[in-house]
Order: sequence, then structure tokens, then C-alpha cells
Amino acid sequence: MIESRTPWAWPPLTSAQRTVLLDVLVNGPRSRSQLTRRTGLSRATLSRLTRDLTAAGLLEEAGPAVASGPGRPSDVVALRSDGAHFVGMKLTGAALYVAVTDLQARVLTTEEVPLGSREIDDVVATMAAAVERARAAFPRVSAVGVCLAGDVQVVDRSAWVIGSDFLGWDRVPLEAAVVAATGLPTAISNDVQALTVAHYWFGAGRGTGSLAVFGVGAGIGAGLVVDGRLVRGAHGRTGKVSHLIVTGDGPRCYRGHVGCASAYVTVPAMLANAGAATFDDVVAAARAGETAADEALRAAGTALGVLVANLVNLVDPDKVIVTGEARIVGEYARAELDEALGRMLDPSAIAPPVDVHPFAFTDYAWGAAITAVRHLV
Ligand SMILES: [Zn+2]
Repeated sequence: MIESRTPWAWPPLTSAQRTVLLDVLVNGPRSRSQLTRRTGLSRATLSRLTRDLTAAGLLEEAGPAVASGPGRPSDVVALRSDGAHFVGMKLTGAALYVAVTDLQARVLTTEEVPLGSREIDDVVATMAAAVERARAAFPRVSAVGVCLAGDVQVVDRSAWVIGSDFLGWDRVPLEAAVVAATGLPTAISNDVQALTVAHYWFGAGRGTGSLAVFGVGAGIGAGLVVDGRLVRGAHGRTGKVSHLIVTGDGPRCYRGHVGCASAYVTVPAMLANAGAATFDDVVAAARAGETAADEALRAAGTALGVLVANLVNLVDPDKVIVTGEARIVGEYARAELDEALGRMLDPSAIAPPVDVHPFAFTDYAWGAAITAVRHLV
């Protein structure tokens, strides 16, 4: 006889339950009195609510807190990190990068799957197979996040990919397709925006109120959190810094602009400016003292500094993170970046820390998994 087991499904949560769960998710173990103060809920309501979240396997009792004043110590509740799992996926034109995380956004496994084709049905089938493998290993997979370099827009409450050059897609109802193929709630995002959300909640931007994240790679894009919210704009297309004019002279970008960001601070631009075949070659040649490669990286650093300054002038972030596969520009040409930043910042602007953050390609998949967490919590 085949044993029938209902697969795990994320429980429906009230908005008060989501508030409590998010607080513990972001801030770590919390005493009941901290949560009462934070949420404004009564002690009795909060007790019922944490009991329900504990029964659902999402929270656990972590014993009494050390009393910080008069009165008896308040019990602490903590996240059950194995209470739920999330599958994040970053789609490029060539491969699917997968990261499975727990409820605390820790990466448990990663996988890289080459794409057999860019046909939508094939790509969705590849994603569904990756989700099935994740579910076989982690039975409490609760949601899926997918991110890609492209524009994502919500149409009739469902996310569509409006355009993605790398995949050659135009107007694809990707959220509906992934939900149909996996049966799981799914969040679809632009990749830099997903990484921005992830850094804001769980990464190098944690604790900030306003944050700018630059992803430097095949292209350059920026994600923005302002006053605690990801800025999506009217069409999901914020952070399009690729063609901002940086110098107004020098090389042309592929669209013919003279001295725009894409003429300096993308991998293809740096290859062209250095006369090299791969980005690793550019970096190695620059470190070996070759002039063209050195100048290409230093010009990219200047361009990045101008972009950072423009964004700081516009949105006044607490912090700027530079990441992506070509983030090394921010280290090699730090002096140029800082010089441009100092030159272009408004005199009254407060220069935020600019943090060049380590990067692995699966970071985007991790970012997508966080968008899946945020989809539910
Ligand atoms: Zn351009």
C-alpha cells in the first residue's frame, strides 16, 4: 500500500503573524516583552500568536531571557531555521544557478544547470526539475524565487518578464508558468533588485534604512532601497544607470554614446578598452603592469565613482554596496573611485561607506531565495 502523505505547504498567516515572524527573522531571538513592545499587541494576543507559529514549526521556545529590569524574565522565541526551505534561481542565457536556503536565509546547497535551450517551456521544465530535486532533499520547500537580468512587471497581480536580452524573451508570464509547473508560490525579480533585497534584509546592508547596490558584470545595474522599501518605480525599471554620461568623451558604448557608463564599467567595455579576451586576462595584465589593462580598470573605477556619486546625490543612502563578477574594479581602482566620488558629490551630501562585497554567481540565486521568503513573510 502506498502511504499517502500531504506535502508540506506554508501555512496561511495573518498580517500580525507575519509581522512577528519577520521581526524574529531579521532581528534574531526575541523576548516576548520585546515583541509586545515592537508590535503593540497585547501579551495575551502575542502568546496565542507565537503558540500558533510554534505549532506550525516556524518558531521555537528558546527559554527565559536574562531579566533586564524588575519583574520576572520574559520567555524568548527563536526562529526554527529548518521550519521552511526556499529555492532561489538565477537564470542567465546559458545556465540556471540554484540555491536552497533555510528560513534564516542560510544557503544549504547550490547547483548549476546548463540550459539545453532558451525556449520558455524548456527553461520552465529545467526550473521545475531543480525544484523537485530540492524538495526531495528538503521536504519543507515553501516557495520559489527566480531572478534574471531583465525587466519584470506585475500585470494583473502576476509577474511577467517584459524583456530579457540574454534570454531573448519578450512579455513572458513567468510567475504563472513556474507556479503551474511547481505548485509553489513564486516571486519573479530583476536580478540586481533581488540581490538588493537580500543584502538589505540579510546581507551587507542589514541595519540600514536606505541602501544602493551596484551589480557590475556583463552590464551594470543598481538596486535601491529607500526608507525601508525597495524602489520599483512605475514599471519595475529603477536603477538603469548603464548609459549615464560619465566623462562625455573617450570611448563609445555599443549604442554609440560617447563616454557613458557602458563605455567603461561593464565587462565587454573593459575587454574592448584593454584589448583582452577575458576579464581575468584584464585583471592579470593590469596587475602585471600592462598599461592598456591598467588604464581600462582605472577608467572603470572613475566611471563607477561618478555613478555612485550620482545615486548618492539622488537618494542619500546609508551605504553603497558594489558587487558582481567585475566588482574587483572597486578594489583595483579604489583611489579613482574615491576621487570621482569626492569630485561629483554635492558639497552638502554625506558620503556613505562604499563596500566592495565578495561575490559568487550563486549570490543572485541566494537573492532570489530571499525574495521567495519575503513573498511569504
Ligand atoms: Zn551608452
